[in-house]
Amino acid sequence: MTDRRKNNKNNKNNRSPRPIWQWYLIGAAIILAIQMFVLPTVKNSSIKEVSYSEFVQKLSSGEIKELKEESYQYLFKTGDKENEQVYRVGKWRDPDITSRLLNAQTKFGTEIVEPTNPVILFLVQLVVPLAIMFLGIRFITKNMMGGSNAMSFGKSNAKIYIQPTNAAKFKDVAGQDEAKESLEEIVDFLHNPKKYAKIGAVTPKGVLLVGPPGTGKTLLAKAVAGEANVPFFSLSGSEFVEMFVGLGASKVRDLFKQANEKAPCIVFIDEIDAIGKRRDTSGYSGNDEREQTLNQLLNEMDGFDATSGVIILAATNRPEILDPALTRPGRFDRQVRVELPDIKGREEILEVHAKKVKMDKDVNLKNIARMTAGASGADLANIINEGALKAVREGRNSVTEEDLSESVEVVIAGQKKKNAVITQKEKEIIAYHEVGHAIAAVAQEDTAPVTKITIIPRTSGALGYTMQVEEEEKFLMSKDDLFREMVTLAGGRSAEEIIFNIKTTGASNDIERTTNIARAMVATYGMDEDFNFVLLEKPSSQYLKGSGTNSYAAAETENMVDKKIMEIINQAHAKAHELLNANIDKLHEISKYLLEQETITGEQFMDIFHNEYVLTEKPDYIKNLEEKIKDQDVNQDSEETIDELEDSDKKED
Ligand code: ADP
Repeated sequence: MTDRRKNNKNNKNNRSPRPIWQWYLIGAAIILAIQMFVLPTVKNSSIKEVSYSEFVQKLSSGEIKELKEESYQYLFKTGDKENEQVYRVGKWRDPDITSRLLNAQTKFGTEIVEPTNPVILFLVQLVVPLAIMFLGIRFITKNMMGGSNAMSFGKSNAKIYIQPTNAAKFKDVAGQDEAKESLEEIVDFLHNPKKYAKIGAVTPKGVLLVGPPGTGKTLLAKAVAGEANVPFFSLSGSEFVEMFVGLGASKVRDLFKQANEKAPCIVFIDEIDAIGKRRDTSGYSGNDEREQTLNQLLNEMDGFDATSGVIILAATNRPEILDPALTRPGRFDRQVRVELPDIKGREEILEVHAKKVKMDKDVNLKNIARMTAGASGADLANIINEGALKAVREGRNSVTEEDLSESVEVVIAGQKKKNAVITQKEKEIIAYHEVGHAIAAVAQEDTAPVTKITIIPRTSGALGYTMQVEEEEKFLMSKDDLFREMVTLAGGRSAEEIIFNIKTTGASNDIERTTNIARAMVATYGMDEDFNFVLLEKPSSQYLKGSGTNSYAAAETENMVDKKIMEIINQAHAKAHELLNANIDKLHEISKYLLEQETITGEQFMDIFHNEYVLTEKPDYIKNLEEKIKDQDVNQDSEETIDELEDSDKKED
């Protein structure tokens, strides 16, 4: 998420709109071309050309009223005002022409040509063409270079913020107390370098901010600069990587030169993995430019004096791929972890962003924080903004808690889909599927309470979902916790199988998540009796979700792992079947209610589950269902169940 956002920011610089002077130049060239080529042709088209003899004839017959001499021709008019005609005739050596004109009483003459000022002549003839040529070449090279300035080859394009009045401060970064603590020392050093110099202590030259995207790494770097009140150079690692070998390196040189001039200051290199990737040892690196840039960066970091007051902050979410040379002491020797916020952190982040919008006074941000386990600071900022947008759309002037919980769903599952056409039959399957999850969850102990079930489709493709919110944040998951989670996930598919005897694609996400949990249990968490304490697989990136895993197991072991995974999942699936069969009447009841309501809260769900009907008057379909359930043998073949349900549909219709 961050990558894209940042790149956009940087692209803005490269693809600036064409400057106004270029438009002037193009306009002037067009006008000049019209004057030189188009206008004379248009003008000449209404002028008739005659031979000199004809001209002499017309002159002697007194037809010509007026004549004008031009450098290579005479222009003359005949006829009166209404049927005036203009002619032109090439000049002829005719010494008597003046007397002829006088005789014919023609008005004649030529234009007075003022001698041109030599300075203007010089400007027009020499300077203007040169300027046009120069600008033209510059324009072409600029376009060829993909927008970068041809005159600034090898110049760093770092954005410099010099003590902006609205600089971020540590108070703007919520919930990252450990990170802030580590960075406070740097702020102190920038404030008071002498204190450190006196003892001979050297502060780190570089600090690496490491953590998942959107956790506030850039914000922290800005806050350090803001707190220390020093200039802040910001650029992204990818900006160093250039088309030409050596350009990136010269950009690094330039950046450090500029930074030294402005010291004390902070240089922030975002996404440093773009240049700091581990160098290849295969001999065919294929990326000389990147390596040269990295070498230059290493050189510069060694070269500058730690007491000079230049501090390099860099951010990455892939610390494991960085070149070890970059992280050795004397370079980025300090790592500050910027992790996903915990519940308290989330509440604080929400508070920081809630201050920017008008909140209803009843909003309890703690509830929103509870719903958003795993969300990053950027997600939370987005949730507040989505909530505010919803309030505006609905014409209210403050944001309510409901807006926020709706926007949690928008951020998790996308906007509500307006025109999804879902057949009644499909809707039923979706309802049973979701209620299957919910019942599988509540029928087990120690699972997160269900807070909402909905079958309103979302733009992300989710046709419905069941939301569970932990009462308290969990940092450790036991083997049983993970198994229970798999049972809950399998509940959806089990409901489809038990009620409709079908398997739908709606369970694909559940299957993916269940398999990931089972795989991690066996291969990463050492929860299998046979494999015991052995690491068989490790995620390839600590911070980037879904970036795959590295396997440490032999092919045969992999086979065994797969078998173990199947065993665990089969157990979970069987358990889900068992739980749903034991609560089949509730499954019917709640699914029917959900079909009517489309969205039900956790309380409504628990009310029906515990047999306390939310409705004072039971609707007919519940009464019908109750009767049917009474007659129904719970263990009957599911084929019959589906027929019966279809029959009941028809009746209801
Ligand atoms: P990163 O650099 O880690 O990818 P950013 O610093 O660019 O993330 O964060 C993006 C946005 O998310 C910030 O501009 C800010 O609005 C919000 N944000 C992230 N973390 C926090 C936090 N801890 N406190 C307040 N806002 C945050």
